[in-house]
Amino acid sequence: MTVASEETPSEEAPWSAWIDWSVARFGASLRLACSLSVEDTLLVDALAESAARRGLARSHAPQVFVLDTGRLHEESYRVLASLRERYDLTFDVRAPATRSLEDLVRNRGPLSFYDSVEARRECCGIRKVEPLARALDGASAWMTGQRRAQAVTRTSLLPLERDDAHRGIAKVNPLALVTDEALWAEAERRSVVIHPLHRQGYPSIGCAPCTRAVAPGEDARAGRWWWEDPAHKECGLHVARSNPQTGGKPT
Ligand code: SF4
Repeated sequence: MTVASEETPSEEAPWSAWIDWSVARFGASLRLACSLSVEDTLLVDALAESAARRGLARSHAPQVFVLDTGRLHEESYRVLASLRERYDLTFDVRAPATRSLEDLVRNRGPLSFYDSVEARRECCGIRKVEPLARALDGASAWMTGQRRAQAVTRTSLLPLERDDAHRGIAKVNPLALVTDEALWAEAERRSVVIHPLHRQGYPSIGCAPCTRAVAPGEDARAGRWWWEDPAHKECGLHVARSNPQTGGKPT
């Protein structure tokens, strides 16, 4: 699929230009992956605003999906409830396949993710990666709140990528170049829903047993899978990407 076109914003364009372009280009076939972190509640707010400005009914507006791994913090469910109450958008909640989850816990126990990188990836595969594929079924594009500033694994992130793991659909990362300061200034200006754990030292929100608070100045993703090498710290949701602006050369 060709994801870039003449009207595609430049890499340096303001993040809001990517929101407007995505809503205009993909409409209801755009899906936002919402982890319930501040990046994603900001994107929910911006997508809702852009859709309302265009007069799009809920059925024609982008959809938001949440991967409910079954291991989220209680606070995350409260954030989801607040978003549902506040925005006229579709919130699609995806759970792991029952059979796979039952087999995982029966065969490996409820805490297998602490055993090895492979065991952790197996859990992420069942609780996140497979439900993601279902959430993207029929989508032309998806959007994420990933930023370069978050982790060593994200320093080459582009605002627009082609997702080769999911049929080559467009993957839009509007906040790719946004700094921590700019992110929080915009979130406060818009009074978006803020996950309470951010104020308790959690810059990144994930599953409860695999996420902890970080010390001031520590890497934003240091609290995710803290027992692993930083180079391994991705859950499998963000792989196999390429740059549509350079003929699909791997990034
Ligand atoms: S973050 Fe932890 S609990 Fe959540 S899916 Fe991955 S390994 Fe499993």
